[in-house]
Amino acid sequence: MDYPKIRINLRIIKNNVKTITSLCNSKGINVAGVTKVFCGHPEIAKTFIEGGVFCLADSRIENLVKLKDFDIPKIMLRLPMKSEVEKVVDYSDVSLNSELDTVIALSEAAIKKGKVHKIVLMVDLGDLREGYFSKETLFDAIDEIVELKGVKIIGLGTNLTCYGGVIPTKEILGRLTCIGNEIESKHNIKLHILSGGNSSTVHLLEDNETIGTNNLRLGESLVIGVETAYGKQIKGTGNDAFILHAEIIEAKEKPSVPTGKTGMDAFGNKPSYVDRGVRKRIICAVGRQDIDLESMYPLDKNIIIIGASSDHLILDCSDGDVDYKVGDIIEFRLSYAGILRGMTSEYITKEFIR
Ligand SMILES: *Cc1c(COP(=O)(O)O)cnc(C)c1O
Repeated sequence: MDYPKIRINLRIIKNNVKTITSLCNSKGINVAGVTKVFCGHPEIAKTFIEGGVFCLADSRIENLVKLKDFDIPKIMLRLPMKSEVEKVVDYSDVSLNSELDTVIALSEAAIKKGKVHKIVLMVDLGDLREGYFSKETLFDAIDEIVELKGVKIIGLGTNLTCYGGVIPTKEILGRLTCIGNEIESKHNIKLHILSGGNSSTVHLLEDNETIGTNNLRLGESLVIGVETAYGKQIKGTGNDAFILHAEIIEAKEKPSVPTGKTGMDAFGNKPSYVDRGVRKRIICAVGRQDIDLESMYPLDKNIIIIGASSDHLILDCSDGDVDYKVGDIIEFRLSYAGILRGMTSEYITKEFIR
């Protein structure tokens, strides 16, 4: 079974990684290559390493397990569940944390294994996802964590533009650096990492506005070359490393409005239609189980995506002059959410171009 398939061009990814890591390195920043969007696929992780990432990072233990044979530091990105601390200690060198109870559990697990697990504490600078929101609660937690024998605080981090859509600025990152300085003098510990966010911080690099930050955790910008604060393509990168190929299973002329009384579609929504008369429609063998309609773009610009159910994708190709037939393949560029969904689907074949 070949189709549907995502063809992954590792040369484009490697070039993206090289371009962005060189830019970051020139500003004193190292890059944690975030592998979650492609489910920690080792082939792509290897390309990240060849392209110059400093370490690998993922939000899921299952993916970190796939990366275990790479001799490079690994970061657990999502706050660990208390129920997975043993695995976190086994498969990552560093984890991002914001809960004392979890850190205590990590410390106990590490002591049992004769290890010291490294901790980066997360600070919420307004985006309202993870992290300590007030300095005082952070300082109180540090007082307790420094007493634990199985963990060592090595830095601070923040995450922005994820829930609240807050865009990183030099003022916001300046606050992180300030809090870091305060901790170093108050608690007498050295913070080696100041991790200034994800692909939405990349836009600050050009004007040197990353203020003391020495690490970024990058996923989207490496795979499709986009900074995510404003959605701009980064100079010298490509957005087409992941191309979905879907096979046509029906090609017919049909009206653009359904016949009969209409109720709900397959997903319980009430559909609406634009009457464009009789159109040439094609159905591809792929569906919502594998793809996200808003995150895929036909390479043939004359094709319009008109809908999908779990396993049927319906397209309109009347505007072009290609005479598509059953068995032909339609190609789509994928954005971040499309890559995430497609790479997660076990029904989609993954093919690599080296
Ligand atoms: C997913 C994630 C990242 C990477 O985000 P991108 O926008 O893909 O660069 C960084 N940090 C954390 C904590 C994440 O969960």
